[in-house]
Amino acid sequence: MATLEIHDLHVTVEADNATKEILRGVDLTVKQGETHAIMGPNGSGKSTLAYSLAGHPKYTVTGGTVTLDGEDVLAMTVDERARAGLFLAMQYPVEIPGVSVSNFLRTSATAVRGEAPKLRTWVKEVKETMQQLQMDPSFAERNVNEGFSGGEKKRHEILQLELLKPRIAILDETDSGLDVDALRVVSEGVNRVRGTGEVGTLLITHYTRILRYIKPDFVHVFAAGRIAESGGAELADKLEEEGYESYVKGGA
Ligand code: ADP
Ligand code: MG
Ligand code: MG
Repeated sequence: MATLEIHDLHVTVEADNATKEILRGVDLTVKQGETHAIMGPNGSGKSTLAYSLAGHPKYTVTGGTVTLDGEDVLAMTVDERARAGLFLAMQYPVEIPGVSVSNFLRTSATAVRGEAPKLRTWVKEVKETMQQLQMDPSFAERNVNEGFSGGEKKRHEILQLELLKPRIAILDETDSGLDVDALRVVSEGVNRVRGTGEVGTLLITHYTRILRYIKPDFVHVFAAGRIAESGGAELADKLEEEGYESYVKGGA
C-alpha cells in the first residue's frame, strides 16, 4: 500500500533578497485509499506544501523528510516523483503553447508508465473520460491551458488525474473559480478516482464547499506553515461556522 510520509518539513523561499521560512514543521501521513483535506487561510503555505512535494525549484527544503513507501522523495527529480506515483494539480496551471491536450496527455502517460499506452485503448479511454467530465471532444486539439476558462483548466487537471492514475494525488484548490455545475463534474471525477481505492488524495482548499461533494476521511487545519489541528470531517463543519480566526490570532 502506498504511503506518503511527511515529517517535520521545513521549506524556505527567496523573496525580495531575503530568505523566508514558509513551512515550519509539517507532519502528515497519507495512505492509499485515504482522502485528506488541508484547509487554511490564504498565505498559510498550502500551495508551498504542494509545490515542495512536486519538487518545484523555487522552494528549498531546509529540514525534515518526505518518503513514499520509504523511498526518499526529496532526493528524486520532478520526473522521478511522477513515475513514483505522485501527482500535482496546480492552483494556477501553466500554459504550454504549441502542445495540444491530446499530445500532452499521451506524453505524460508514456513518461509515468515507462511505455507508450496502446493507441486503440488509449484513444477510447481519453474519449470516455472527457465525456464523463463533460468536455467537448474538440478540446483535445487545443493547446494546453491556452485561453482555457477557470473551469476548463480544472477539468483538464482532473482529466490528467483520471488518466495517469497516480498513487498519491495532491489537488491544490481544484475548487477555486468553479461554478456549481463545474464543481460537481470535477468532484465526480475525484470521487471516481477515489472509488478505485488505489489513490491517496490530498485535497487542498480554502473553502469548505467542495467537501460537500467529496467527503474527506481527515481534515487538517493549516496555519502559519504547519498543521495546527487535525480531525475528521466534522472539523470542516466547525471551520465553516467559525472560520480560521482562532488559528490565525492565536498563533502557532
Ligand atoms: P496558500 O497557498 O496557503 O495561500 P502559499 O503557499 O501560496 O499560501 O504562500 C505562503 C507564503 O509564502 C505567502 O506569504 C507567499 O507570499 C509566500 N510565497 C509562496 N511562494 C512564493 C514564491 N515563489 N516567492 C515568494 N514568496 C512566496
Ligand atoms: Mg492562496
Ligand atoms: Mg495556494
